[in-house]
Amino acid sequence: MHKRKTWLQWQVIRGLASVKWRYLFKSMNSINTHSFVKAHTVQLFNRYATYNGSNPYKAPGMLTVIPHLEYNEGVFYPKGGMISIVNALYKLALKKGVQFYFNTPVKRIIHHEGIVQGVESGDENHDADTVVSNIDIYFTYKNLLGDENSAQKILKHERSSSALVFYWGINKEFPQLHLHNIFFSKNYQSEFHHLFKFKKVYNDPTVYINITGKMEPGTQAPAGKENWFVMVNAPADAGQDWNVIKQQCRASIISKLNRLLQADVEPLIEAEETLDPLLIEAGTSSFMGSIYGNSSNSVMAAFLRHPNFSKTIKGLYFAGGSVHPGGGIPLCLKSAKIACKLIEADKKIKINFSAMQ
Ligand SMILES: Cc1cc2nc3c(=O)[nH]c(=O)nc-3n(C[C@H](O)[C@H](O)[C@H](O)COP(=O)(O)OP(=O)(O)OC[C@H]3O[C@@H](n4cnc5c(N)ncnc54)[C@H](O)[C@@H]3O)c2cc1C
Repeated sequence: MHKRKTWLQWQVIRGLASVKWRYLFKSMNSINTHSFVKAHTVQLFNRYATYNGSNPYKAPGMLTVIPHLEYNEGVFYPKGGMISIVNALYKLALKKGVQFYFNTPVKRIIHHEGIVQGVESGDENHDADTVVSNIDIYFTYKNLLGDENSAQKILKHERSSSALVFYWGINKEFPQLHLHNIFFSKNYQSEFHHLFKFKKVYNDPTVYINITGKMEPGTQAPAGKENWFVMVNAPADAGQDWNVIKQQCRASIISKLNRLLQADVEPLIEAEETLDPLLIEAGTSSFMGSIYGNSSNSVMAAFLRHPNFSKTIKGLYFAGGSVHPGGGIPLCLKSAKIACKLIEADKKIKINFSAMQ
């Protein structure tokens, strides 16, 4: 995207020629309202904007490519849940000779006269002529490069949404629930208005419950019990009191589930862990606890993400959800691949991508 020669490739020209411009300039909601008759179907298809932390009433219709992939191409379930993707990558990296240093944060990216020289981590300096930063680009500039100006420029763009998550061990089986369950809010537009304009969790939030035990019975929860991952969309952190919000949200989720499942859910919660924007930021260094870097709430958002290379420090590259092409696990893996390709081109070396497919 950020190299001129990309735009001159035949594949790219052909791709651009097939773009329907209304998908770029109209919102996802407007495309869906035009495509579907029933309001509930529009709401269901609007939900795909949240796959990258965006507002369907603002995000471009181009994001309808997400349900296209899901319904027309099909999706896969990683056995053991999402963690097995991380484990598979880890195993592959070990096989390729990668050396890991766990619980040793990088303190600084060392560079001199516009050339990267390595990283400082723990009490050690690691020399390197190529450095790839996979943490949030804002924190990379602010903390690892000490470049406050560039960090501030990142903040010009709106952050994506965050989430409140309740990991519940449920002491009962609910045969009416499946792997993915969504309990929508009555007024979806108002929910997104609250999230992005008022920076509040909506009082009737859309509740997503994922139960991997439905896909892999007998491996994810003890017999007769279920593992619920309960998530609602939340704004990125702007100083809200998350402990209070979490309690209020928990109560509204439980009251909604009681009504819709005709059950008394609270006494069934045997174990509980939670996640909120502050914990997400503390655990991953994603600024404001955004789960997808910058939002895609404008036509230009996709074009304004930070490139996968530094324009001022040679040998420094970026990957992950806060840079091109954006957040979400598939795009993060793409960003890693793009960074590798750039390194390959700059260093005139060959990286074996077949092992990374
Ligand atoms: C609750 C939740 C639900 C989600 N659901 C989905 C989903 O269903 N599908 C989907 O595709 N995406 C989902 N996402 C988003 C997805 O997880 C992210 O987009 C993706 O993990 C971002 O990848 P990353 O590599 O950029 O950052 P991360 O996965 O956050 O990795 C960054 C790593 O850098 C480490 N780090 C931070 N600072 C330093 C330092 N100074 N030195 C060394 N290491 C450091 C962190 O510890 C972390 O391990 C979800 C996210 C959350 C929080």
